Amino acid sequence: MHAIRITETGEPSVMRWIETDQPVPEAGELLVRVAAAGVNFIDTYHRTGLYPLELPFTPGLEGAGEVIAAAKDAGFGPGDRVAWSNALGSYAEAVIVPSDQAVRVPDGVGLDVAAAAMLQGMTAHYLAHDTYPLGPGQRCLVHAGAGGVGLLLIQMAKQAGAEVFTTVSTSAKAELAAGAGADHVIRYDQEDFGDAVERLAGERPLDVIYDGVGRATFDRDLELLRSRGTLVLFGQSSGVVPPFDVGRLARNGSLYLTRPTLFHYIATRDDLERRAGAVLEAIAAGDLSIRIGHRWGLAEAAAAHRALESRATTGKVLLVP
Ligand code: NDP
Repeated sequence: MHAIRITETGEPSVMRWIETDQPVPEAGELLVRVAAAGVNFIDTYHRTGLYPLELPFTPGLEGAGEVIAAAKDAGFGPGDRVAWSNALGSYAEAVIVPSDQAVRVPDGVGLDVAAAAMLQGMTAHYLAHDTYPLGPGQRCLVHAGAGGVGLLLIQMAKQAGAEVFTTVSTSAKAELAAGAGADHVIRYDQEDFGDAVERLAGERPLDVIYDGVGRATFDRDLELLRSRGTLVLFGQSSGVVPPFDVGRLARNGSLYLTRPTLFHYIATRDDLERRAGAVLEAIAAGDLSIRIGHRWGLAEAAAAHRALESRATTGKVLLVP
């Protein structure tokens, strides 16, 4: 079989297309033929070494496919359609998935859609339902609203009854964010997004900000939240937020700041099944729309990373063997 392999961290070109032996599943494991692997920002952090992993490794955490072989105790069998968000090595024609990380893909949901929905879908789900549970009339700001997480979070925030402000950097992205249901779409490449929010809704109007952009937006975020509002910093597509004086939380209105990560919100089998089930069933029911913006061949993983890192993508990026 073929896979992407990283032997040194760095630029996208460190991802090499190699031939390798197909692995054999051990106790509690599945061997899955990958139908599609999801590309996520965390893969770029693994590639650059921002989140260090032992070398060499095959990147990719997310995907969907058909089980080829399963250990006896695994609870799945050959032919089962499964998806996952936490199996390192998914940029490959076949991957070992720990059975406690696999969920069944419901009938009516394609494997490519399932691969596209797992990591960003469950992220949007925990942000909107658990980190700061949104309700009717609440005002939230979602940065990068045409991105993978962004388009899903906008839809879930609207379903919860919230008023949604969002930021995007192009007119094509603005159309997508509006199509997902955002009430106010702000071009933060053209004006200060904070000025736009204040013009639309007055001073410090927001209950919560979901910020996956990080360095470029963090400081201004702090000036837009109501007293005791919540800043959810869940990523850093523009760069890492520098060390922070916690006194600013008091001075800006006794704010709450949290830095969550998906894996703590799917830590138990129950959590994973409940959250993945909610996302996949919403798709099957037609209540959640997944936009697959880009598909590359597996061997072209470097091109996919370059596009994601240069703001050239919308919705989900997939690698297809
Ligand atoms: P996106 O599809 O949202 O892509 C990133 C977007 O960020 C870009 O399209 C761009 O949108 C915006 N952006 C703003 N500034 C920059 C910059 N300087 N360079 C690149 N992009 C920039 O990615 P994902 O949906 O996969 O992830 C979004 C964020 O969420 C990432 O930071 C990721 O790490 C994080 N994440 C966190 C998780 C968690 O549990 N904590 C789980 C999943 C993702 P625009 O051009 O409109 O500005």
